[in-house]
Amino acid sequence: MSKGLVIAIDGSAGSGKSTSAKLIAKKLGYVYIDTGAMYRAITYLALENEAINDESRIIELARKCKIDLDYKDGEVIVLLNDKNVSKEIRLAEVNSHVSDVSKISEVRKVLVEKQREMGAKGNGVVMEGRDIGTVVFPNADVKIFLTASLDIRANRRTKEYIQNGSKVLVDDIKSNLSNRDKIDSNRNDSPLTKASDAVEVDTTNVTINEQVNLILEEVKKIAVKKNIQLEIKN
Ligand code: C5P
Repeated sequence: MSKGLVIAIDGSAGSGKSTSAKLIAKKLGYVYIDTGAMYRAITYLALENEAINDESRIIELARKCKIDLDYKDGEVIVLLNDKNVSKEIRLAEVNSHVSDVSKISEVRKVLVEKQREMGAKGNGVVMEGRDIGTVVFPNADVKIFLTASLDIRANRRTKEYIQNGSKVLVDDIKSNLSNRDKIDSNRNDSPLTKASDAVEVDTTNVTINEQVNLILEEVKKIAVKKNIQLEIKN
């Protein structure tokens, strides 16, 4: 296991997970892992292979594929079988199917194993997703559960898409988020839920800086308790 802390950040889409997790990893010099990107990559692969309605083929594709994550200039780079699919995994079609693919236990099994391996590599890790504090790293040192109102989350996502040059409607984004929330929270395997020992942070009315600082305060408290040295960059 790494010498630094394992920091798990869970929450629904648009709750501020990626933004906070990236900044915290940068400040601490820790590895950042976006597990949602991995579920998106499998979904994209299933769509590309016209297998989106065939569970056993999706499982086979998940077992056989190679997924590598990198992080450059603030962006997650996703290599799927050595091909950069970072843009494709954010397409509306992937948004529409990813929660159904993520319900498949065998897919989760494959990805959770990869996530545990990735987490064990770094000297400290910030991993974000839906089940990090409950399933992937139930013994994570720090567990944060982020929430925010649906309206705020939809507005944030819409802004991100527009900044990246995509034309989207806030109502479409809102209905996709609410649909994904429903599926992610109600599935049998690893539903989106707050770990009993996670600290809940509502980001509805806080700035990015405030939310990062709230999380960093928790990280600092645990680091002192566990006698782990932190080097926090500005
Ligand atoms: O985080 P992001 O919104 O990109 O995640 C996309 C989807 O991947 C989620 O809606 C969820 O269905 C799935 N997911 C998951 N478990 C994780 C991360 C993401 O089921 N740890």
